[in-house]
Amino acid sequence: MWNAAHPCILEASAGQIPCRDAPHEISPAETGTDQLRKGGNQMDEQITGTQASTSTRDAGTPALEAIDITKSLPLGRERIAILKGITLRIAHGELVAIVGPSGSGKSTLLGIIAGLDSPTAGRILVDGADITRMSEAKLAQVRNASIGMVFQAFNLIPTLTAQENVEVPLYVGRHPGRPSARAKELLALVGLSHRLKNRPNQLSGGEQQRVAVARALATNPSIVIMDEPTGNLDKTNGDNVLQMIRELRAATGTTFVIATHDPDVAAAADRAIRIVDGLIATT
Ligand code: ADP
Ligand code: MG
Repeated sequence: MWNAAHPCILEASAGQIPCRDAPHEISPAETGTDQLRKGGNQMDEQITGTQASTSTRDAGTPALEAIDITKSLPLGRERIAILKGITLRIAHGELVAIVGPSGSGKSTLLGIIAGLDSPTAGRILVDGADITRMSEAKLAQVRNASIGMVFQAFNLIPTLTAQENVEVPLYVGRHPGRPSARAKELLALVGLSHRLKNRPNQLSGGEQQRVAVARALATNPSIVIMDEPTGNLDKTNGDNVLQMIRELRAATGTTFVIATHDPDVAAAADRAIRIVDGLIATT
């Protein structure tokens, strides 16, 4: 239902102001996850330094809080209740699976958590900032800085190369380092240094999803939200993407919230939250 490209991407491709070339350049000697940690720490400084009002990221503040979220939609003269009061709290660095039958409301919930859709009632706090009561401009800024998104169908921009796809969110808002250096660093981390110049139609499904994950991590967001990230992949590619997500979480401490039908993904999570008919199931 909200399976569109990330609004940040659309905003960027619609020609928002690019960030200026900024101070940090990754030295060629820095490799692998150390590189990402370093980049990540610097980005943390940037975020806490420039956006302290929305990104607190202190240990006591959950990465994500949903408070009594409801969503209903009109259907003829009636309204149908899709989400009926979801409350949850996810700590920084957690890897949480959202599971439940098809149609139970997982994608609707993720869209609301990501600020792509608004709830009928309730509040979403990302790093302590209430995204349900923000202006569009402020919300766009928080989505860019703090929320990464990965979709089942990858949703890369078909006319851009892998590297350019990862650079796009870095041209919105202010981010340290050169976008090209950061994109190369992230694509190296997801094992795609040899595919920088390929367009999405020249990449396998597994490779496209790796690019999408690199793009979601580009601005060093506090939380990465994934809707069925292995849903369009065969078992081998799905396993590879899952392994990569686990390694990235270990290396970066990013919080991952993953809606999934895939029992392997759910088993790899720290915990699973089960949604049934718009409510969190207690058993
Ligand atoms: P899941 O991701 O768990 O499969 P969804 O969040 O996509 O579930 O959908 C939850 C329920 O909301 C389903 O019954 C679906 O048919 C309904 N729904 C989703 N989007 C819309 C919409 N735009 N209009 C009407 N009903 C919708
Ligand atoms: Mg869904």
